[in-house]
Amino acid sequence: MLRMVFALLVLGSVAARAAPSDNDCAYDPKTTHLSRIVAADSTGGPLYGVTMNDADNKSQRRTLDLHDHEIVLTFDDGPLGANTQAILDALQKHCVKAIFFAVGKMAMAQPKLIQEIDRRGHTIGSHTWSHPRAMHTLSVEDNKLEIEKGFIAVSEAVGKPIAPFFRFPGFRDSKGAVAYLASRNISVWGTDVISGDADAGGASAGKVTHDVISRVRSAGKGIVLFHDIKRSTAEALDGILTELEKDGFKVVQVLSNTNYQPDAQLMARADLFRTETAAATARPAASPKEQVKDGSVDVMHTEWIDLDAEIANEKLHSSNAGTGATTQARGGVQPASLTAASGWATGRQVR
Ligand SMILES: [Zn+2]
Repeated sequence: MLRMVFALLVLGSVAARAAPSDNDCAYDPKTTHLSRIVAADSTGGPLYGVTMNDADNKSQRRTLDLHDHEIVLTFDDGPLGANTQAILDALQKHCVKAIFFAVGKMAMAQPKLIQEIDRRGHTIGSHTWSHPRAMHTLSVEDNKLEIEKGFIAVSEAVGKPIAPFFRFPGFRDSKGAVAYLASRNISVWGTDVISGDADAGGASAGKVTHDVISRVRSAGKGIVLFHDIKRSTAEALDGILTELEKDGFKVVQVLSNTNYQPDAQLMARADLFRTETAAATARPAASPKEQVKDGSVDVMHTEWIDLDAEIANEKLHSSNAGTGATTQARGGVQPASLTAASGWATGRQVR
């Protein structure tokens, strides 16, 4: 029987510090804004969060049992240079943990950055290999490749298996893909609160701050969707967390009680050094004028993402700012470093 397993871990105390560093502040409710740590079960492919598109398989729906004023922070599409780094620093300043739904090819391009996300104790899931925007129109076979290749690539970049947590780009799921994920014991993540940082036309840090605070207040609790590739979110997150903390909101850290396990046959087909999957190249990028609203989800409002443009913007900003953060984080995973995923066979590993 599918069920959600919640584990309230015993919280140890550590000495309070003026400036938290690394993981020093992770598990002390007296010094952090972390309220609880829970383990989410992915057995049978449960669907978490209310925002979904076509997958209306209600028997698989699960709700994270969040208390009033408890939120889960999630970040999609990265990692990406200085923006992801700034978000990691803001999370650390507030001593809270998040789930990062990384894109496979982004993680492969910046392995040091995805490893830093892991080192800081955040949970890492996958958001496909190449972020196809119309995944619901692709064949189940192409969905499988996007899903599996994404998980394999992110795991390879991190250096160990990641959580079997998956989020569809723009929540554009399909019954076939959701059924496949269920067969693979991979959970599907929607969201309860949309930050609006990926709205078509862009959103300023001020708008993201205003909108997400009002939406979280209105919802009272839930899973919050951000994009760590977005400069507006990188600039706004510290202020957002400060305001929400004043309102009494606390962050719940979500871990996984299982690891992603690769399918041997699909792993053999998932050539990580082929530039794109058939799925990603099957369609040209949509223009902003394209009508892409489906079902209950307004994609213009959740995922107006052009990864190449975001990478170019971030490069330009890093170059202008002279931070060098992007250059340092880039480098890519080289073929020689792939070791047929030496960590796959490891046992249970929470994260
Ligand atoms: Zn996305």
